[in-house]
Amino acid sequence: MSIEVNNITKIYGEQKALDNVSFEIGSGEIVGFLGPNGAGKSTMMKILTCFIPQSEGTAKVCGYDVSVDTILARQNVGYLPEHNPLYIDMYVKEYLQFIAGLHQLRNKKRLVADMIDKVGLGVEQNKVIGTLSKGYRQRVGLAQAMIHNPKVLILDEPTTGLDPNQIIEIRNLIKDIGKEKTVMMSTHIMQEVEAICDRVIIINNGKIAADDTALNIKSKQKQISIITVEFSENVEVSEIKKLKGVNKVESLGDNKYHIFSDSDSDVRPLLFNFAVGKSVEVLTLQKEEETMEQIFKDFTSK
Ligand code: ADP
Repeated sequence: MSIEVNNITKIYGEQKALDNVSFEIGSGEIVGFLGPNGAGKSTMMKILTCFIPQSEGTAKVCGYDVSVDTILARQNVGYLPEHNPLYIDMYVKEYLQFIAGLHQLRNKKRLVADMIDKVGLGVEQNKVIGTLSKGYRQRVGLAQAMIHNPKVLILDEPTTGLDPNQIIEIRNLIKDIGKEKTVMMSTHIMQEVEAICDRVIIINNGKIAADDTALNIKSKQKQISIITVEFSENVEVSEIKKLKGVNKVESLGDNKYHIFSDSDSDVRPLLFNFAVGKSVEVLTLQKEEETMEQIFKDFTSK
């Protein structure tokens, strides 16, 4: 196992940030750690990277206990903290060589050159960090997290604050890195999880709300279709409700209705027949499936 978390609790003063959390992450997995603000994501990541101690429970990285074998655990984990703190007055190469020095690595120049190549910093490698775009700063952050070649990477909201192009570039980079390393990344962007992660752990109020593949989480939830239909005239809600597969109908005014059904029964043909039977016309009809975003809300609002 790359990461083993057993009954971890973290209390800050009177605040319980993590409450008896347990999970495991196998070698080579890319796991999305999801939760609303204040759920406990950063706290869990700081414990796994030996930045803060837990109050109770045990956590291991590559078999090393983070509170006992701290140095060995740190050697096996790379960490990109939230907000990516960097020395902005330093040059890219100078900073990465400094980080390599902190890890007491040999062949610093070669390692830095390899990292620059790996994270795609080539064109920006001779610049001062403060002059780089956010996307390139994030690449510097990823390079510092990987310079000691750890088996596990922990990335705290790695795409927050980036523009849409930079988000795609950094996601692709993480996907690529994930071919060689175990990755645990926090995010609150659902599409990110669907795009990158094999598995999702949802955390809410310091407790695990769900732990499964993104696909299973989707299929476990009762999928709901929502159809928005506009008729040429007003029709009775109770009449629409009688159609097979329809669970709920809401009138939106102006002859528009929201029609809720299970996603395995498509009620659209029935709605057209219904309109013909009532001698009204269907002016617009739009179908939406429940998204991962809604599923996440379902899990975290329980
Ligand atoms: P997330 O990363 O999911 O947004 P955090 O782990 O940062 O959540 O925070 C979890 C809870 O712990 C929050 O309520 C936060 O206010 C609290 N918290 C985090 N760090 C500290 C701290 N150093 N001192 C006191 N409370 C903290």
